[in-house]
Amino acid sequence: MDAAAGETLTTDEGAKRNKLIGAAVLLVLAAGCGYLATLYGFMAGMGAAIFGIAGLSVLASAFGFAGVGHCPTCGKEMRDLPRDTEAASCRCCGNFAIIRDAKLFPTPPDHVAKSSAYRIDIEPGVQPNFRGLCATCGKPATTSLPRELTKDVVGVPGVGRLAKTWTIDIAVCDEHSKPDSLGNPAGVTSFGGSLSISSHRTWRAITAKS
Ligand SMILES: [Zn+2]
Ligand SMILES: [Zn+2]
Repeated sequence: MDAAAGETLTTDEGAKRNKLIGAAVLLVLAAGCGYLATLYGFMAGMGAAIFGIAGLSVLASAFGFAGVGHCPTCGKEMRDLPRDTEAASCRCCGNFAIIRDAKLFPTPPDHVAKSSAYRIDIEPGVQPNFRGLCATCGKPATTSLPRELTKDVVGVPGVGRLAKTWTIDIAVCDEHSKPDSLGNPAGVTSFGGSLSISSHRTWRAITAKS
């Protein structure tokens, strides 16, 4: 593949077909609930509305774009791709690709995404090694910001969820050391035990991906 020219995606007929089938199932369920609503009233009516809305949204997505391409890193097939995205994740190797106007490109090593596109799953209690790079831009980090993560460790029968909360230091440069209203550096978000950052270089350094 010529990396600079990008790979033109072909249409993912399989994904479209699966969505059409999924939509049909949901709409049949909606119709079934709609019929039950005439007998049992409100709750069945709610079910009809929920299945109906879900079915229509899946139906709409089936008529949208779904592409097939090949991971620029490992060459494996990537399916159900959108027409444009800054970070399409390969299920095989975990690396990211960029899609512009239905063309697939390798992610440049130094790419800085417009949002926190690159996700890192962190095990409870672990401090990810930023290797001295800013999470936002990938330049040398000069300081760090604390960030609290929480991850369910185990569901104990009769006790409930057991969650572990721990604090990591997010490496940042001077320019990106100002936290936003949620306490995150720009271009960094966290959810549960995962951290998402915008620097592809730093993501590669932390995850040791090529
Ligand atoms: Zn891959
Ligand atoms: Zn920075």
